[in-house]
Amino acid sequence: MRPPEAGGISARELRKKFGDRFIDDPSFLSLYSREASFEEPSAGPLGVVFPTSEEEVLWLVRWAYETETPIFSQGSATSLSGNTVMTKPGIVVSFERMNKIVEVNPTDSYAAVQPGIRLEELNVELSRYGVFFPVDPGSVRSATVGGAIANGAGGMRGAKYGAMRDWVLGLDVVTGRGDLLKIGCRTLKCRNGYDLVRLVVGSEGTLGLVTEAVLRIAPMPESAAAVLIYYDDLPTLVEDVVRVRAARVWPLFAEFLGPAESREVGLEERYSLFLGVDVNRGAERDMLNRLKGLVRGAVAREALGLDSSMDLLEPRRKLFSAQVALMQRRLGSEGLLIIEDIVVPVSKLPEAVRRMVDLAERLEIPLSLGGHVGDGNLHPTTWFRRGDAEGARRARAFIEGLGKIAVGLGGSVSAEHGIGTLKRDLLRMELAPTVLEYMKALKSIFDPKGILNPGKIL
Ligand SMILES: Cc1cc2nc3c(=O)[nH]c(=O)nc-3n(C[C@H](O)[C@H](O)[C@H](O)COP(=O)(O)OP(=O)(O)OC[C@H]3O[C@@H](n4cnc5c(N)ncnc54)[C@H](O)[C@@H]3O)c2cc1C
Repeated sequence: MRPPEAGGISARELRKKFGDRFIDDPSFLSLYSREASFEEPSAGPLGVVFPTSEEEVLWLVRWAYETETPIFSQGSATSLSGNTVMTKPGIVVSFERMNKIVEVNPTDSYAAVQPGIRLEELNVELSRYGVFFPVDPGSVRSATVGGAIANGAGGMRGAKYGAMRDWVLGLDVVTGRGDLLKIGCRTLKCRNGYDLVRLVVGSEGTLGLVTEAVLRIAPMPESAAAVLIYYDDLPTLVEDVVRVRAARVWPLFAEFLGPAESREVGLEERYSLFLGVDVNRGAERDMLNRLKGLVRGAVAREALGLDSSMDLLEPRRKLFSAQVALMQRRLGSEGLLIIEDIVVPVSKLPEAVRRMVDLAERLEIPLSLGGHVGDGNLHPTTWFRRGDAEGARRARAFIEGLGKIAVGLGGSVSAEHGIGTLKRDLLRMELAPTVLEYMKALKSIFDPKGILNPGKIL
């Protein structure tokens, strides 16, 4: 066994406090040292702690503050930008066991939850009340509320419902100074000073650890209409999404797959667009006809009703496994997948797609396409062989080139996956030095010793 000696404090104190919820067995630690991205950790965990209460998190952060031990918080580690990877030896705090629903209040439109609950589990419970939590990342079956808050996650219903920053009303947060802040409200409107909730959402565990969240919830849409449309080229697909938005139809989802990805999930080998709109009961057929009148691709499937519209979207949920299969066919188990994340104004989507395809061709790298498209967010994906230095260089050049395309078109280097370790340089390209100075000043107030998820964002 390798006891954590960080800051001169032995594992004994952590074991005394957490018992068997502190683990430092090396074979177990490796399970907590990676995330879904290809970013490599530069250190391994000294131990993993599984708190079960706010009081325990408070104790742990105060201990870390005293001993100057870095803390890396983790939900399900599905991050894609190096948000959770360890940059120096420290303690992993896993929120797996803080996964309770504290309160559901449909009348006041909120649910209070602990951070470790998975988004899908939350929605299973909320469905009993006829309400739901709309943020729906592709990883919804694994992703936790705390991880989604800290990443500012979005997802498949982003075209209609936005991202986490639009759905968090209040938070309990333990800052890097070991203070418990109760911020925000349980009401839909709330103007109690500076909006610290918005600051913590998307802060990737660098300002504080979320111990409880008050989430806004919404009534389930009454009904919906949806179509699956095939295209022979991507520009027409993207232009159709812009046409639908320009016609003031606000899609519930607008998601797409490239030809190879479509074939992989059992569809025709063409570009597939999944377009769904929520409507009141009785208005499904009108909306369906409206959609069919707006788009120029070949309508292959139709759905009327909410459940069948969500069923129509199911093949899109298999995108990640399709991309892994495509990569493995070329590279076996040696492939590393890079799922990129940029955003541009919706009207600039056709131009962004053109430049993105040119970039991949210029760099001679594989390009797998699919994901969101309705809110200007794109996830171009590529891969290279583990250990292939030239492949890695080209992949990095792709990430940088995409960032430049996004910023050049008035967008951002990340829509929802965050900055982590992967996009720190790109953030410097996007933001003015003065803005970064203000961010650093905020970081030093929340975390003066830099113990919370060091080496991320700034
Ligand atoms: C197949 C696949 C599809 C995906 N699709 C989407 C998508 O559609 N949209 C999208 O936005 N993202 C997507 N992601 C990225 C990722 O799944 C989401 O960001 C997700 O919300 C992360 O949740 P998690 O529980 O895995 O968090 P983790 O990866 O464990 O952590 C995320 C960040 O939050 C911090 N953190 C975790 N818990 C806490 C806490 N309690 N307090 C403070 N900080 C904390 C971590 O330190 C880290 O910085 C996808 C990932 C994969 C692998």
